Amino acid sequence: MAESNKNQTAAERARLKEALGAQLTDHICASPSCPSPGERIVMKELFPVVTHAPRRRTVFYHKACGPKLV
Ligand SMILES: [Zn+2]
Repeated sequence: MAESNKNQTAAERARLKEALGAQLTDHICASPSCPSPGERIVMKELFPVVTHAPRRRTVFYHKACGPKLV
């Protein structure tokens, strides 16, 4: 019955990945210079950064807004 799913093509997988990447997360961008502050970040744009000071927590940015790792 699900015979057609057996040979899932790369294109179909890419489309699925794209759909997952477009899902909204519950996180908003922590960058003060974000062009769209207060908007939830989609999965593929999510850029989590773990801070250790003053205490350990994770902040989230858009990939484009995150601190540059030089
Ligand atoms: Zn941002």
